Amino acid sequence: MRHAGPEARALCPGPGDERINLGLISLYDVENNAVRVLAACARAAGYRTVEIYFKDWVNNSLDWPRPQELANLVRLVRKHDLGLVGISVRASAYHKVAVEITRALRLHFPELKIMWGGTHAILDPERCIREADLVCRGEGEITLVRLLDRISLGVDCSDLLGLYVRQGQEIYRNPVGPTVQALDELPFRDYTSPDKYFVMGRSVRQGDPMVSDPCFQMMNSRGCVFKCAYCYNSELSELYKGQGRYYRTRSVDSVLQEIKQARRVFPRMKRIRFDDEVFLYSKAWYEEFIRRYPEEVGLPFEVFIEPRLVGEELFTRLRDCGLDVVYMGIQNTYRVTHELYDRHVTDQKVLECVQLFHRLGLDARYQVILDDVEST
Ligand code: SF4
Repeated sequence: MRHAGPEARALCPGPGDERINLGLISLYDVENNAVRVLAACARAAGYRTVEIYFKDWVNNSLDWPRPQELANLVRLVRKHDLGLVGISVRASAYHKVAVEITRALRLHFPELKIMWGGTHAILDPERCIREADLVCRGEGEITLVRLLDRISLGVDCSDLLGLYVRQGQEIYRNPVGPTVQALDELPFRDYTSPDKYFVMGRSVRQGDPMVSDPCFQMMNSRGCVFKCAYCYNSELSELYKGQGRYYRTRSVDSVLQEIKQARRVFPRMKRIRFDDEVFLYSKAWYEEFIRRYPEEVGLPFEVFIEPRLVGEELFTRLRDCGLDVVYMGIQNTYRVTHELYDRHVTDQKVLECVQLFHRLGLDARYQVILDDVEST
């Protein structure tokens, strides 16, 4: 894991130092992959980490946090004596809820450090730093562990790469933090820690809320090779320029090992959803996956795909080794996607994909954008 770089090692607290407890809050997203990976990194670095899944997504009209839910959140922060709380704000739609939670926590814990991260925080740090003490700008794994080390040692973090830091009236704006280039070096997500809670309505359930789900979701890659204008990947790929590859993949071995490990704790696992932006790998990766997956896992699986990546031979072979559901973005007609979305998929190509999925007997689910000025 790369967080053990020279700076982190030099600062890493020893046995006599005061390690703070970390809390990570996921908003309306029990599936939150980022929170689980960050938690795994912090635990691997020796920090007690509590994951709090605050409400689940039902539809886009977010059910506003109720007093009871906020009170339960406050109780968890107190119970675990958290010193730093990270709130995952994955889209601007969650900004107001993040403000509500931040203010509720401040009322009870004036000393608590509150950090916002996630796509919204990365893309709009100026707005977020008005509320948070810290904004994580970039992929958080390396930055978070460095921050925990500094706080635990009482070292100032105002110059820490990847962070916006607010201290009194002063705001320190550091450059975007490092991306994780070698995804295989990240620890697997952990589903067994007791330090996990799902807060919703009147109840607080201990344990990972996903562990009874029959569909195990995972990501084998980060980033995307495309830059559709409406998608955050078009902005993040620019923001991370100069940091190495934007689109990165894990090895087949790492993917299969994580599934096998998870299978031991997911009693009802019946299928896998590869949640990557697009299921795109090298020829050698596909060959190895197609050879090993049926024997070592053998569960049906589903993928997200972009029409330009669909080919008959590959999809026939993937179907034969378990692929049964595909999610494909159509978004709109060629005229609109080409002119407005910087997405150059012809109507003919979409039609060919649809016919192929039909021939292969795949359950194909299509995504379209309905609410833009051109198509309404
Ligand atoms: S293909 Fe999908 S994930 Fe990739 S840039 Fe386009 S919309 Fe975003």
